[in-house]
Amino acid sequence: MTTVLVVDDEPVNCDLLDAMLSPEGYEVRSASSGEEALAQIAAAPPDLVLLDLAMPGIDGVEACRRIRAMPGGELIPVVVVTAHGERESRIRAKAAGADDFLAKPVDDAELLARVKNLTRVKALHDLRARRHEALTRELAERSEQLLRAERLATVGTLASAVGHELNNLDASLALALRGIEQAVMRAEAPSEEDLAAMQHGLRAVRAHATQLLSLGRPGAERVEVFDLADLLREVLGTLRSIGRLRGVDAEFSLPEEGVAIVAARVRVSQVFLNLLLNAADAVAAVTDRPKVLRVRVRVTDGRARCAVDDSGPGITDALIERVFEPWFTTKPVGQGTGLGLLVVRHIVEGYGGTVIATRAPEGGASFQFDLPAI
Ligand code: ADP
Repeated sequence: MTTVLVVDDEPVNCDLLDAMLSPEGYEVRSASSGEEALAQIAAAPPDLVLLDLAMPGIDGVEACRRIRAMPGGELIPVVVVTAHGERESRIRAKAAGADDFLAKPVDDAELLARVKNLTRVKALHDLRARRHEALTRELAERSEQLLRAERLATVGTLASAVGHELNNLDASLALALRGIEQAVMRAEAPSEEDLAAMQHGLRAVRAHATQLLSLGRPGAERVEVFDLADLLREVLGTLRSIGRLRGVDAEFSLPEEGVAIVAARVRVSQVFLNLLLNAADAVAAVTDRPKVLRVRVRVTDGRARCAVDDSGPGITDALIERVFEPWFTTKPVGQGTGLGLLVVRHIVEGYGGTVIATRAPEGGASFQFDLPAI
């Protein structure tokens, strides 16, 4: 129901407006002073305010100005009800943000037309704002999901491919095993075919185990030469767009001549994404110092020596060895997978580098690693 707040120090005026609006389906509330109106609006914003100008305490103009200054108050339509000869006040009310005016004595039809128009505009605006809010929320959720999916792309793709293969192997190994069992029951030698199938199966299991162990190691992936600054801008842009860098001072410092990395771009992107997401998580709870996230890179001997630093709580000595372990996480269920740093390590080692966790100059954690560069 559309609510109208009538603000007038004369109860009879409130009753009059109520009598005109209620039959038309409006819910009418009343306040007998500007102060009371402001308190009511703060507690439950109406869809429109009908404001008398001359009131003891804060007058209509001041009340209008204060409504406009309230959070969300700029969207509430305010109609000022003026007595004859209040031209001066009308101008002041307009300047204070009033949307429209009604002259006393209030004409029934005029009142209804104004209220209807203004509340319809507000309803449309509210609808649009709600839609916008829902879309923004959905976008953030989707981006977060995408990001998570990308983080785990290496693990996920590989694991499901290997799972599929192991499933197939299971069937052929079971068949070969049954053949061997039957031969043994008949006191015969197992057939060459079954033995070969077993051997093949075992070799395949070993190959898959190796593949899983070298999770994310780039190997056959297409290596390209690309500008690291470009990639960092992209990764930080993604994090910013999903609101993970709110209130965070995030930047990178690279040599002036730039850094050209020689690797699969998508893998390097995964490395920075994982490290920067962790760093963003780490600084999220910081309140007593600036939230800082910094990527430092310099190039020596054909390697880009990179550091991702943050001003978060850092990692205790007891945990520093464990953070690269698969499934190790200190994050709440649903947020942490404990695979991010595992992926980072496998990608970096796949390019002949190393990655270590230490203390950052900012006091938090620092992840240092190297990648091939020219
Ligand atoms: P996840 O982020 O899913 O927990 P990770 O393998 O990326 O998995 O990280 C493992 C753990 O390492 C985290 O849960 C956290 O305890 C610790 N960690 C990683 N990065 C940081 C950091 N920048 N600051 C503090 N702790 C960190």
